[in-house]
Amino acid sequence: MTILVWFRNDLRIDDHAPLVAAAKRGAPVVPVVCVDLDLPRQTQFGFSRLGPHRARFWLEGLADLRSQLRSLGSDLVVTRGRPEDVLPELVAPMNVEEVHFHRGFAVDERTEEDNLARRCPQVRWQGHWGNLLVTPDQAPFAVSEVPETFTAFRKKIGARAEIPHPRPAPLALPALPPGVEPGTIPTLDHLGLTSVPADARAQITLTGGAAAGRDRVAHYIWREDRLRGYKDTRNGMLAADDSTKFSAWLAHGALSPRWVLEQIRTYEQERVANDSTYWLFFELLWRDYFQYIALKHGARLFKAGGLRGLRLPWRRDPALIDAWCAGETGFPLVDASMKELAATGYTSNRARQNVASFFTKVLGQDWRIGAAWFESQLIDYDPASNWGNWAYAAGVGNDARGFRYFHLPKQARDYDPEGAFVRHWLPALAKVPTRWLPEPYRAPADVQASAGLGDAYPRPIVDLESAVNATRKAYERVDPPAPPSRRRGRRRQ
Ligand SMILES: Cc1cc2nc3c(=O)[nH]c(=O)nc-3n(C[C@H](O)[C@H](O)[C@H](O)COP(=O)(O)OP(=O)(O)OC[C@H]3O[C@@H](n4cnc5c(N)ncnc54)[C@H](O)[C@@H]3O)c2cc1C
Repeated sequence: MTILVWFRNDLRIDDHAPLVAAAKRGAPVVPVVCVDLDLPRQTQFGFSRLGPHRARFWLEGLADLRSQLRSLGSDLVVTRGRPEDVLPELVAPMNVEEVHFHRGFAVDERTEEDNLARRCPQVRWQGHWGNLLVTPDQAPFAVSEVPETFTAFRKKIGARAEIPHPRPAPLALPALPPGVEPGTIPTLDHLGLTSVPADARAQITLTGGAAAGRDRVAHYIWREDRLRGYKDTRNGMLAADDSTKFSAWLAHGALSPRWVLEQIRTYEQERVANDSTYWLFFELLWRDYFQYIALKHGARLFKAGGLRGLRLPWRRDPALIDAWCAGETGFPLVDASMKELAATGYTSNRARQNVASFFTKVLGQDWRIGAAWFESQLIDYDPASNWGNWAYAAGVGNDARGFRYFHLPKQARDYDPEGAFVRHWLPALAKVPTRWLPEPYRAPADVQASAGLGDAYPRPIVDLESAVNATRKAYERVDPPAPPSRRRGRRRQ
């Protein structure tokens, strides 16, 4: 008999329950990954589900996983196709009796698991929970009882001390059985994608794989000692070390969140335990929370009405959507963020909140289109975190009540006070005085002329205040505001 370990978004060998369980069985083990070459051609709202930034990072992660597995005496078998098509074909020739894998949280991943179990009932499909701080089998609530708000979730999860330590990687694995070919890792070409040249303006290069992920952790926490001040810098939009940039490795599973927590714990013992060290744990808990929300709500998370089922009159205006995607809205904070996203596959949390708020609350466009664009662009794309945050930004997530939006000029003053981020990504605005940078076309004509504005930068595609008011009215018709005394606290920003 043979045991398969099916790798999905868990491209690592440490803290990997499926690998540990398979290694213990004393039978031949075949680590396998399925690369669906059609993924970039699957579209949602016209956008590819896998763009070149994430694809590149993913393929690098596979190469790294292969070398990790080789260091244990095994290898990574790389197959081409959808898991539902490919894995059943391996069962008979390899005499597969068990498949160990990490269970998914979003509806597509769970459907994939169900389909496989239906197609090959003779195989023992052994799903393991992982990729979280607190897994559903250890949580103090059933999936159907997952608290809807983050605060309630965090309180119920209980003490950080109870979160288990990460599992070590197996010391060794059996070699691949004779005749099992590891196969080659596809290239971007095979996926029909063209690589995006590195953009000189990028502040950081994100390289896939656990080795690069661990090096980023070593850089941020240990060498540069940035964890000490994380809470104060995490909202910064420009510098690489303003926030951790761990998200891409966490999303692909090259880093385990429990391993990151272990680093925080060690740092607290060896250097300092403060608000910042707690805050990174807090952010990782947000990540857990969105996975639980995806698990609980299934397909609802991806519907226009979101978790609250609100029947908002979302619009689809191709000109507005194109301008937003291209970073040509005439609102510098939005445009700088969207240019950064397209050029690098990353933009900060602050930027994501601003552009999502602008897309939904100012432009009034269907939030799922924005989420789908992010899906195609983000290196750290993760279904639960992306669609959960988008639903929240659109006001259709369960943790959100009432019409709230991010006022761009205020966001610029608070988070880009000198305009460094905007000028970095929008050189056409280099000479605009900081005071006018949030809305350059409101500057007096002589200021515009001496800044060389001319036609170098687009005019605003909407009037900010009237656009917001129109969306607000539409929103409040569907979800009237509660009286002031009953309004709930704001989420932390
Ligand atoms: C509209 C929108 C879409 C988003 N889409 C994604 C996505 O597809 N994938 C993704 O990983 N994050 C997503 N986020 C969350 C957040 O923006 C990124 O995790 C963060 O910007 C990554 O940068 P960092 O690693 O430096 O974050 P840090 O500030 O250093 O945070 C540390 C880690 O905590 C987790 N985290 C922090 N904030 C959040 C959050 N709000 N939700 C979930 N996890 C969080 C991430 O794993 C992150 O790496 C989205 C946020 C918004 C507003």
